[in-house]
Amino acid sequence: MTAHEVDVVVAGGGAAGLFAAAVAARRGRTVALLEKSERPGLKILISGGGRCNLTTTRSGKDLERQYGERRGRFLRHALHLLPPTAVVEHFERLGVPLREEDLEKVFPISQKARDVLDALLRDCRDSGAKVHAKTPLLTLRHDGSHFVASTPSGNFVSQSFVLATGGLSYPKTGATGDGYSIAMSFGHTITKTFPALAPLRVEEPWVRNLQGIVLHGVELSSLDRLGKVLTRRTRPILFTHKGLSGPAPMDLAGDIEEQGGGQVRFDFVPEMSAEALEAQWLDAARSHGKRGVASLLPATLPDRAREAIVGIAQCETLTLANFDRAARQRLLRATKDLRVLVRHSLGFDHAEVTRGGVALDEVDPKTMQSRLQQGLWLCGEVLDIDGPIGGFNFQAAFATGRVAGSHA
Ligand SMILES: Cc1cc2nc3c(=O)[nH]c(=O)nc-3n(C[C@H](O)[C@H](O)[C@H](O)COP(=O)(O)OP(=O)(O)OC[C@H]3O[C@@H](n4cnc5c(N)ncnc54)[C@H](O)[C@@H]3O)c2cc1C
Repeated sequence: MTAHEVDVVVAGGGAAGLFAAAVAARRGRTVALLEKSERPGLKILISGGGRCNLTTTRSGKDLERQYGERRGRFLRHALHLLPPTAVVEHFERLGVPLREEDLEKVFPISQKARDVLDALLRDCRDSGAKVHAKTPLLTLRHDGSHFVASTPSGNFVSQSFVLATGGLSYPKTGATGDGYSIAMSFGHTITKTFPALAPLRVEEPWVRNLQGIVLHGVELSSLDRLGKVLTRRTRPILFTHKGLSGPAPMDLAGDIEEQGGGQVRFDFVPEMSAEALEAQWLDAARSHGKRGVASLLPATLPDRAREAIVGIAQCETLTLANFDRAARQRLLRATKDLRVLVRHSLGFDHAEVTRGGVALDEVDPKTMQSRLQQGLWLCGEVLDIDGPIGGFNFQAAFATGRVAGSHA
């Protein structure tokens, strides 16, 4: 079979690979992008509920912090070179007008993820990068002077190789962890991988009973084994037949999985301290003795949620007139410190991102080049990088793709 010879081969036609391919081709490099699926960019199409939240309006240190200390530090250079404002300019230049929505998220005005993918594909085509769909990378070796990538359509030979095959989440989009074994064959370490940004499986009956309810303004935190808060989120919480979904629970999945299970804590009145809340309750009890205890809970909570909290606190039969200290303590705990055990998320099939991947200390953050194999670049989710919901994962994929494409 014929061997294709190019300057750069990019494996993986997701956000990172498509970005890297176009950037490298615009530098005058001949580029072949290998995508194993029939169509590249499947994950882009299903992202953000089909609308693709492609970046955020956060910036600087605040942006970096979203990825955690170690991963944020690794991304510093890439995010500096391609901050969210530059991503916005880039896509607008490619003909996709964008706008900011709630929670600093940026979406196409058209509300169509398709437009984002089409823009990336157009950029590849216009820059001269050739996309080979249905062309899985099977093996990769370096023969001393070149990389030799084997595929069912023959070998691709190149000086530079960009590995952008993604992680393990949503395997039906093509992300099945192929890049890990390729990276390992060059000596790379793959840190333990966990599903992240996934719904949480919760068995607790009160959670299951609230199926269909969405809570706003409630704080949800993941706790470590000593009860210390790992991540805190005040974002929508959706109760489902399997447990908890929506932005806040999904943001906590990585922590839960990484610990092998743990507790999440609800604070239904995060804007008030326990002391202030108790004082308010005492005031109300003095003037409205005949009311039920549920009347103390915020009117913004759905009735079923208020009933559940009062039930957990065993206060359902009490009026404010007989709401004694012990009952107040129970209700305070149920309102501000209600913990549920979560053993697992719904796993990689439902996870938007993979935590873990190619160890960051083996990759140069200034170039995304492997420190172990010259000429090998890595970008996107194949790296040990994940961010919360809000456009941070595409932002990281574009930024690392841009750096890799600038050097490969
Ligand atoms: C349902 C869902 C919704 C999401 N929504 C958002 C969102 O709104 N905002 C956000 O920022 N992030 C979102 N994400 C996360 C985001 O999509 C990913 O972080 C991002 O796509 C990672 O890009 P990537 O290019 O590194 O990997 P991927 O997008 O996974 O691309 C990797 C590509 O490599 C290909 N590949 C794999 N193995 C091989 C091989 N051997 N040979 C050739 N090709 C191969 C795959 O087929 C795939 O096309 C979402 C994810 C999911 C699953």
